[in-house]
Amino acid sequence: MRFQDEYRDPVAAKQLITAISRVVTRPWTIMEVCGGQTHTIVKYGIDELLPNGVELVHGPGCPVCVTPLELIDKAIAIATRSDVIFCSFGDMLRVPGSQSDLFAIKATGADVRIVYSPLDCLKIAEQNPHRVVVFFAVGFETTAPANAMAVAQAKKRKLSNFAVLVSHVLVPPAMSAILSSLDNRVQGFLGAGHVCAVMGLEEYVPIAERFQIPIVVTGFEPLDLLEGIYECVCMLERRQVGVGNQYSRAVRRDGSPRAIELIHQVFEVCDRKWRGIGEIPLSGYRLTEPYQQFDAETRFNVQQVTVHESEQCISGLILQGIRKPHQCQAFCKSCTPEHPLGATMVSSEGACAAYYNYGRLRHPVAAGSEI
Ligand code: SF4
Repeated sequence: MRFQDEYRDPVAAKQLITAISRVVTRPWTIMEVCGGQTHTIVKYGIDELLPNGVELVHGPGCPVCVTPLELIDKAIAIATRSDVIFCSFGDMLRVPGSQSDLFAIKATGADVRIVYSPLDCLKIAEQNPHRVVVFFAVGFETTAPANAMAVAQAKKRKLSNFAVLVSHVLVPPAMSAILSSLDNRVQGFLGAGHVCAVMGLEEYVPIAERFQIPIVVTGFEPLDLLEGIYECVCMLERRQVGVGNQYSRAVRRDGSPRAIELIHQVFEVCDRKWRGIGEIPLSGYRLTEPYQQFDAETRFNVQQVTVHESEQCISGLILQGIRKPHQCQAFCKSCTPEHPLGATMVSSEGACAAYYNYGRLRHPVAAGSEI
């Protein structure tokens, strides 16, 4: 299959691994930002094929995983209302809130629907004028254009029974927060190609310069990642600072200007809390003033919700590259995809789900021991 088979060629993969082995002279820790990259790495065993000393750690780029617990609880509070049709992408339904999840309340009669595009919600709203259709607008910069389009269209069509529960987060502030942490181990990043296809490369340049690191934007196939790792290791060995673009078949330096313009029309940057990590300044989007009427939190008055995280779940440390899933004492014991304690076990991009699904180290080891 074009654009797939050529990026899964085992001979080329072996050549890249050999090339990485030849250039590496000392240990390096590289973080792949996106959960999609993590799943490819674990599925194909890329991290296990790398030479000793090149370690990959998993980043926070799983939007489902970092959606704060209180947002899940707010979603549940809104979705249980009889006047609401609550719409979401499928992988949010099993994410545990404090007491329940969207899937469980759907089973008890709440009108929770899975959609494949936020624009589907506009159609549902037009077909159900006496109920409010709420879309759970979760995601990084990647999903922001489509969500912004839905809100802009709702305003244009004068749809007063449509609202969004916004939980948008941004990649660059999270990278800066990780690099600023006293526990940081990350020396280079593999940036997320789909985010950069929207936003471009420029906002990564100040991060690379401030923290004196290489950032290489990659795609999601095995050879994309191996090429990105090779480029990143070469830059680390040369002490080269800057932003590389392995994914030039999809990412332009200026991203998608029309998508960026639409995002900035509907959303503005705000502080956001990340599940397991805490608040990161200027790391999310909220609706701009002209679109406030579509804000579900205000409409249903659910701004204040008090929540309690599972004390066993260390997903915040995993999302910062400080721990790996098998180092969680609950992994494969009290936490499984059937009975998840944290979002990283149920999201299709979650690191714990990747380790579980691909049979990686099912027996937990003591926290703090060698990986
Ligand atoms: S295995 Fe479960 S409890 Fe442990 S970090 Fe992952 S999601 Fe949290």
